[in-house]
Amino acid sequence: MRLSKHADQGANSDQSQMRWFWKKIWDLPLPHKVRHFEWRACRDILPTKVNLMRRKVVNDQFCVECSLEVETTGHMFWTCPRAREVWACSKVVRLVNQERMQSFQDLMWYMLTVERSDVNEVAKLVCIAWAMWHNRNEIRHGGKRRSGAELVRWASQYMEEYKAATEMLVCKAMVADGVRSWIPPSENIFKINVDGAVFADQKAVGVGVIIRDEKGRLEAALSKKILAPLGAVEAEAMAYEQGLMFARDIGIHNFIIEGDSLIIYHALCESSNPPSSVAAVVQGIQEMCREFHGVMFSHVRRQGNQPAHLLAKHACGIVDFIACIQETPCFLEQALIHDVTISSGS
Ligand SMILES: [Zn+2]
Repeated sequence: MRLSKHADQGANSDQSQMRWFWKKIWDLPLPHKVRHFEWRACRDILPTKVNLMRRKVVNDQFCVECSLEVETTGHMFWTCPRAREVWACSKVVRLVNQERMQSFQDLMWYMLTVERSDVNEVAKLVCIAWAMWHNRNEIRHGGKRRSGAELVRWASQYMEEYKAATEMLVCKAMVADGVRSWIPPSENIFKINVDGAVFADQKAVGVGVIIRDEKGRLEAALSKKILAPLGAVEAEAMAYEQGLMFARDIGIHNFIIEGDSLIIYHALCESSNPPSSVAAVVQGIQEMCREFHGVMFSHVRRQGNQPAHLLAKHACGIVDFIACIQETPCFLEQALIHDVTISSGS
């Protein structure tokens, strides 16, 4: 670490700034292997020529790319003509203050504290550096040298694919506790409320699923009986699973899925482990989420989940399932009007 350079704020604030820095580094939106590279680069434990020479693995420490200078992370990712070429092709970093970057960590520090770059920009920079490192290793083993533009293009594409894959699994965005009433989703998103009910005497459970738009209008509803002697938590998990299947059947891709079980909600958000009885179902739900464009998990208290609750209860008296599309079953009317009235504050 190069605390001395930033020592003008005093030792204590240095420490808290360094903690902040490492947390930022660790929280960047990056795929696991790129973050691992980032970590090693920041800690200066990449097998650079300097580090290899120190370990007596090689007997020269000059840069693989230019052979002009000692290959430190500062040189490789900043002062080397190769680095200049790559950064010139990207727009993520301004080519200034050359002397300041003695290491990759200095470069990250500069981006986060001086430039105050957006985390997505910093993540992109790391991904480009990773592409540079990867190509440097290829060159070292007789592989082809890629142009700066090629590396930047490749890294941008890689990041976009990563972003698209993770955006679907954004959760924790919703307030977990205290939401008592139903809140409509924003425009172009649906909200799916789900609930489960146990019919112990029938050795069965019921699940209810209701899909509504931003005005609280019913898009579709499902009431289904599942013949299995399950408990309450299992029934709630099944309700989520059925909710996703129903969404797939109806053909909706962007939605919030909401239930009143905190246990299942936390398990889906990965903020706590699921009980073992539902672990497999929870995992299946998370995998199914990847089939959609945008899925968010949400929790609401029971009072805000009435229509789904009624649908789950309704399954008691049916054989298999009933589904309604854009048509409200009469036993739901009151509860739907209630939700819309409450949410519009009138
Ligand atoms: Zn060089």
